[in-house]
Amino acid sequence: MGEIKTYRMYIEGKSCESASGQWFESYYPYTGKVWARFPRGNAEDVDRAVNAAQKAFTQGEWPRLHASQRGALLRRLGDLVAENAQALAETEVQDNGKLIAEMSAQLRYIPQWYYYFGGLADKIEGAVIPIDKPETFNYTRYEPLGVVAAITAWNSPLLLATWKLAPALAAGNTVVLKPSEFTSASALEFVKLVEQAGFPPGVVNVITGFGAEVGDALVSHPDVAKVAFTGGEMTGQKVYETAARGMKRVSLELGGKSPNIVFDDANLDNAVKGAVSGIFAATGQTCIAGSRLLVQESIHNEFVDRLVSFAKAARMGDPSSLETQVGPVTTVPQMEKILGYIDIAKGEGAECILGGGRATRPECGDGWFVEPTVFTGVRNDMRIAQEEVFGPVLSVIPFRDEEEAVEIGNDIVYGLAAGVWTQSIRRALTMTDRLRAGTIWVNTYRAVSYMSPFGGYKRSGLGRENGQEAIYDFLQTKCVWISTAEDTPNPFIMRLPGDD
Ligand code: NAP
Repeated sequence: MGEIKTYRMYIEGKSCESASGQWFESYYPYTGKVWARFPRGNAEDVDRAVNAAQKAFTQGEWPRLHASQRGALLRRLGDLVAENAQALAETEVQDNGKLIAEMSAQLRYIPQWYYYFGGLADKIEGAVIPIDKPETFNYTRYEPLGVVAAITAWNSPLLLATWKLAPALAAGNTVVLKPSEFTSASALEFVKLVEQAGFPPGVVNVITGFGAEVGDALVSHPDVAKVAFTGGEMTGQKVYETAARGMKRVSLELGGKSPNIVFDDANLDNAVKGAVSGIFAATGQTCIAGSRLLVQESIHNEFVDRLVSFAKAARMGDPSSLETQVGPVTTVPQMEKILGYIDIAKGEGAECILGGGRATRPECGDGWFVEPTVFTGVRNDMRIAQEEVFGPVLSVIPFRDEEEAVEIGNDIVYGLAAGVWTQSIRRALTMTDRLRAGTIWVNTYRAVSYMSPFGGYKRSGLGRENGQEAIYDFLQTKCVWISTAEDTPNPFIMRLPGDD
């Protein structure tokens, strides 16, 4: 692996170590060896970063830029990400264990967010209200909020950060980004491009460290106006509670336990690929994993056989090889959590028909791999069906008819996404209407775009990222009243329109 790389945080345009002088390490999940170290930030570092972001929001060049100029900076940043896509993808592979095949595509796609929101920056228009008062001019304008704390999970580090940064900056805010302690490298590589694009110092800052130290201090900081958070449900609740004390705006992108529903009239070849992509792509470490596979009883056995043969053939191993299809799990605690859930499912009486343990194939070496795992005989009230595993573990649940598919699909605290496989247009429309989730895919799975709003129903979160509406989560409305009357009316008499 060679030398351990040392990264520094980024505050007010400068690389720096933490106030404590302490460090923490990051591991390459394919070998289990340390490859980089990062400053262990604390509340003092957070204070410095928020002060820098607050200063950049109120003074200097950034607040004076007009929206088209902000848009141009974002588009320049998009170009720089595109130019550096391969290097950034390789950093994600090293830090996270993600597949190069997926990361190369993801990094080539990320610039679109900067182009899209860069283009949107100067199209945010207030309204002139035809107000019901004489001699009065009334209009609205949208203004940025101030300092945004962006806190992200480890599973798609730069993509998740981008979903926050692009709209936040387009709206004119400044940002302090705290990446996950497990995957901080790409944010620190990316921020060099922010500087190169010409963003003034303090507009984007990156603090590394642990959630309980850096994350909590950031959410509690009085000068943070909004928290844009991606992570687990329990952390999300904590963030929400802390932010409420400061009356901050909050958006939460949390977990899921999404139903992927296969009807007997589906194109089964496509549905098998959809089921596999829903749970084994990205090693199942995705919030939108289709981890509950609902299969109509009449095709259950045939479908499961086809699914297992397809999944069995998945190539595991070196994430930096373009041939690999299932990579390692990103962290040891996550691997232990997944293995724990496999034991829970076995204990609950579910039948393990594929995988069911740590992968010990020679091509997996000393890496943190879990075999693609399929359970049948799962009831929707089992823990394996109700709790987010965040790994390559699929629960297959049979259903009788449409009514039961809706009932089981919705019988969950989450509502991030759902998939439906059918060739009936009536059924597709009925299911999209009745399933309670922020994203419904029909005859496809895992598709996302900068143009299409993404977010959760129920405990999967609050607010939407992507699409035009995302920018309004980073703006506030100001209403302006201007009297054009010669005389101010008697302050003690209230007059309504039509009164003489
Ligand atoms: P997590 O443990 O909740 O951590 C998320 C982020 O919050 C990390 O940066 C973490 O820092 C930080 N954090 C931890 N405690 C905090 C606190 N008290 N205050 C503020 N920040 C704190 O989640 P994860 O394990 O990284 O990610 C997996 C979860 O994210 C899954 O539930 C997944 O479904 C969800 N997710 C959702 C979406 C979506 O768009 N809906 C997308 C991706 C992932 P440390 O890493 O240092 O602990």
